[in-house]
Parts: sequence; C-alpha cells; structure tokens
Amino acid sequence: MDLRNLPEQLSSFQRLNQRRTILQNELKVDLSPLEPIEKIVGESEKKNCEQMFGVIPVPVGYAGPLSVVFSNNAKTDLHLPLATTEGALVASVNRGCKAVSAAGVTVTKSIEHGVTRSIAFRAASSSRVQELVDLIRKDEVGWKAAAHSTSSHLKITRYDIDIAKQFVFLTVAADTGDAMGMNMITIGAQAIADWVTAKLDGVKCITVAGNIDSDKKPSRRTHDLGRGYEVVVSAVLSKTVIADILKSTPEAMLNVANAKLKAGSEIAGALGKNLHAANIIAALYLSTGQDIAHTVEGSLADTEVEQTETGLKIQVRLPAIIVGTHGGGTTLPAQSKCLGLLLKIKSGLKAKQQLAESIAAAVLAGEVSLLAAQASQTLASAHKEMAR
Ligand code: NAP
Repeated sequence: MDLRNLPEQLSSFQRLNQRRTILQNELKVDLSPLEPIEKIVGESEKKNCEQMFGVIPVPVGYAGPLSVVFSNNAKTDLHLPLATTEGALVASVNRGCKAVSAAGVTVTKSIEHGVTRSIAFRAASSSRVQELVDLIRKDEVGWKAAAHSTSSHLKITRYDIDIAKQFVFLTVAADTGDAMGMNMITIGAQAIADWVTAKLDGVKCITVAGNIDSDKKPSRRTHDLGRGYEVVVSAVLSKTVIADILKSTPEAMLNVANAKLKAGSEIAGALGKNLHAANIIAALYLSTGQDIAHTVEGSLADTEVEQTETGLKIQVRLPAIIVGTHGGGTTLPAQSKCLGLLLKIKSGLKAKQQLAESIAAAVLAGEVSLLAAQASQTLASAHKEMAR
C-alpha cells in the first residue's frame, strides 16, 4: 500500500481522495464520511498533514457576544466560534458570556513572553561546561545572529542557562512576528546549536528540544514564568446577575470555588487550579487553526473567586496562551474564517495579542458558567438533557 508515491500530475485534492480509495480497497473499510469538499481543503494536503486521506468534520457552535476591555483599553464584543463535540459546552459558555458581559471582562495583564526552545548540549568535562557557559554569555551577538539568519521574523528576546552535570541547557525565547513560532524557533535553535558546536571542541548538541521549554507538556516553570502570552482577566458579577442569569448565589459559588479550586486542586497537586479552561482553549484553538496540543499549556490557568459587597469577583491567570495569526493551520479556509470572526473588530493590539486576550476572556466566561452550574447542582442534569 503506497500512499506516498502517487502520480505527480494529481492535484492535492485528487491525491487525498486517491489515498482514501486505496485505504478503502486494501483494508475493506468504508471511509466515505471523511470525504472533503475541495474548497475547504486549502493547502492542508501539502503543508499541514502528510498522507492526508480525508477530513473529520468537527461541529462549530456560536457563543457570545462577549464584552471585553483589552489591555490597551479598547472595548469590543467578541463572537466565539467553539469547535467541539462536547454537548452542553457551547450553551454553558454562551450563558457565561451573557453573565460576564453585564459588567464586561477586563484584561488586567498581558505579557508576551514569546515561544521558547531549550537546546541541550553535552560537554566532555566540567571545564568544558564552564567554557560553554562563558561562550554563551560573552558571544551573545554571534549565536543570536545565527538564529536570526534563519528567518526575517525571528528575534531572540531572552535566554536562560541551566546546568545538570555535563548537560548545559540554553533556553531561548523569541518574538516570532505574527506566527505562533514553534517551527521558526526550532529552526533558529538548530542554527544556534551548529554555531556553538563549531566554536567549541568537546561540546555536542544532544537535542534542540531539551524539555525545559516543556513544549506541549505541563510544567511548574511554564506555570510560574509564562510562555507565549501570559494574560490575566477579571470580571465582577452582581448578585442580580448571579441570581437571574446564573441561577445561583455568591455564597454557593464561593463554596464550590473553595472546595474545588483550592482544596481539591491542592490535594491532587494540580498544576493549574481552574474549572475547565482546557475546554474553551481546545475549542477555540481547533476552530482558529492553532496547534491543538498547546491546550496542555493553556490548562495551566488558575481561577480565583472572591466575594465582594455587591457580588463576586472572578479572576483567571493564564500563563501560557500559545497562538499565532499566520502560519500553521491558520490559513486553512474554514479556520481562517473562524479566526477572522474572533478578530473581527480591530483593537489596535497586535493581532496575535488580541487573539490571546480574546481567548483568555472566553475562558473566564466558561469558568463563571461552570462554577454556577456546580453551585446550583445542575451540572449533571444539564449534561443529561443536552449531551445524551
Ligand atoms: P511557520 O508557518 O512554520 O513559519 C512561519 C512562516 O511564515 C515563516 O516562513 C515566515 O517567514 C513566514 N511569515 C510571513 N509573514 C510573517 C509574519 N508576519 N510573521 C511571522 N512569520 C511570517 O509557523 P510557526 O508558527 O513557526 O510554526 C507553526 C507550526 O509549528 C504549527 O503547524 C505547529 O503545529 C508546528 N509545531 C512545530 C514544532 C517544532 O518543534 N517544529 C513544535 C510545535 C508545533 P520568514 O521565516 O522568512 O520570516
């Protein structure tokens, strides 16, 4: 079964259809529901998915409008395209949007840490370890130039050194323009590794992905220091909104927050004390063509609830929203339309930052609604009604 060497004259669309036909015939399976329509395939067969043989349709639901004040004080209403197969999720986020929009979500902090890559070197001796560290510190201009030569949009903004016996890790963070940047920084990291190893005998590059960056993995370092965008959002809910829209009370919601977010998460040793940040992040990453595996870092969010005289204040800190508005899956026809819907109103922020802040605001709406559902003991009944 050769799915790679297909006749050269075939178009992308013909190639993927031919692969499905081969698979169906060879494996005696029916794959007809995976058949795409040509206009939604875009460049995916060439750029996004090797040996592509079809598409999986994921339903997209609308939640919103969601009123938000971005970090530059621009105010807008967001329209959220949520791609999911989890019944009750869109309805819940929609209710959260209604509740928080009464007063609006405010972005109180927004920092671009940039994507990171950790290059792991192995030095032949402890004196070589010191020489390597000295070289990295003294010849910053040289190795950064090597990285910058690989892309017109890559700019190394920060670096850290960690040492574990003979291993020296150089972790670089970068501004990657409008792209999420993981490919870009990986290519740059290889250029740095080549530059360093050419300069120093007795030093080898073991890998350009040495896990201190924790790409697509949860880690304490990412949680504490941030990666991609770190965004903090907050909203204040009045007692009336809590009663009328969320069918709950501040006391009941606070009780759930104390039990679940504080005690429960603590006992579990959770990295990320939230209700279901990953649900909203996965749904928006999927619809807007982000790398869905970065939901892992998105789930490191912490949600805090505080009772005020007039109701409740909810705050969510998301240390690692890793997104782009160029490259990856963002240019595919359907994904690019969803991205356009989410970024419809221009805030004056860099589009990538507006996207990160919008996703954070949507997470907050999701947190509020689920907290209320658990406080009013309607979580199970809502799922029974909508998701079965
Ligand atoms: P990319 O599509 O690989 O790179 C962006 C490209 O767009 C570059 O060639 C860049 O050109 C060009 N570009 C044009 N205008 C740009 C602008 N305004 N801003 C930024 N770039 C611009 O995108 P990426 O974000 O680096 O990589 C995304 C992909 O990486 C995703 O598919 C993701 O799944 C994957 N990924 C890779 C790794 C890995 O280790 N390799 C890890 C996780 C995810 P110039 O280079 O000439 O500037």
